[in-house]
Amino acid sequence: MSESAPTRVAIGKHPCPECGGDLEWNAARQALVCPYCGTTAPWSPAQEDGAGAQIHERDLIQALDEPRAGRGWGAERYEVKCQSCHAISVFVGTRAAQRCEFCGSPSIVPHEDQGDAITPESLLPFKVSDGQVRDAIRRWYSSRWFAPNKLKSRALTDTLHGVYLPYWTFDAHVSATWTAEAGHYYYVTETHTQNGQRQTRQVRKVRWEPAAGGLTHFFDDELVPGTVGVGEGLLGQIAPFPTTSNLVAYAPEFVRGWTVERYQLDLRRAADLNMTQMESKTRALCAAQVPGDTQRNLQVQSQYRGRTFKHILVPVWLVNYTYGSRTFQIVANGYTGKIAGRHPLSWIKITLAVLAALVVLILVLAYGQGQ
Ligand SMILES: [Zn+2]
Ligand SMILES: [Zn+2]
Repeated sequence: MSESAPTRVAIGKHPCPECGGDLEWNAARQALVCPYCGTTAPWSPAQEDGAGAQIHERDLIQALDEPRAGRGWGAERYEVKCQSCHAISVFVGTRAAQRCEFCGSPSIVPHEDQGDAITPESLLPFKVSDGQVRDAIRRWYSSRWFAPNKLKSRALTDTLHGVYLPYWTFDAHVSATWTAEAGHYYYVTETHTQNGQRQTRQVRKVRWEPAAGGLTHFFDDELVPGTVGVGEGLLGQIAPFPTTSNLVAYAPEFVRGWTVERYQLDLRRAADLNMTQMESKTRALCAAQVPGDTQRNLQVQSQYRGRTFKHILVPVWLVNYTYGSRTFQIVANGYTGKIAGRHPLSWIKITLAVLAALVVLILVLAYGQGQ
């Protein structure tokens, strides 16, 4: 069946119409461009008849049982592993890296893939071009109040790289039943004696009643990152990646000339994480159904059916720079342009800001005393 076909190349081989060279995806032109002669071969997902239909979810249980199905990249590739941050970079076509594109470290070694990597089903192509992201990063810097001025004047986008990060997405249907005790508040008036005086007060009590219910829910495209090159904190800040309706089927043309990070969170561990996420979401959905003002002893029984997954790639722009002895990373969402990053702090500026705040506080206090 089609699930175990080695690679589905939805847009087919598109050699350059002029020179026959291998086309590469160009973010600025939103087209496949020949790196040898510059010829543009316009392409859009809508032109590919049924391209959307080729991106399908794969059955999770079957994939875990048959670990060798759906492997291979559809093109020659070269992999290196960074000895500093452990990210594995995949280069489709021939291109050697001098430094790790995630942390800038020069200590990279060839990585021998055992041929067991699951091929990406689909990807989100780069939409933001390098020129756009350079401008956006400059604006981002100048809006950082506490970044040192010296930093703002430096050419910090020199190390800009476009990288595809690995993600897993999962779908599943859940049907759940729950039981709980629903608590309803009521108030009683109690009297007590304080310093010989009779006092009354309202005291809140809870009446507990058993409750039960059930629900069904469809989890659609629940994302689990498989990257080690970009930290979860930064990834969360540039989310979301609009994967539900903008994915295109994987083809080597899209990744040739770009770097792809090889996932290191494998399918089984990603599926476990996804289950933990779904369980806590299901529990929250059930908790929301319990009537009353408060609740306790929520018990949830859930059944998950039709679990499917995709391995996808999402685009990010990365910048690494060192300041003093430390390395900093800036990440931009390659589809939406959202930026997050770390930068050094100027202690002089922070000290001045704190002093200014103290002066204001003292003035306010002094004015208050004078009234
Ligand atoms: Zn050409
Ligand atoms: Zn690295």
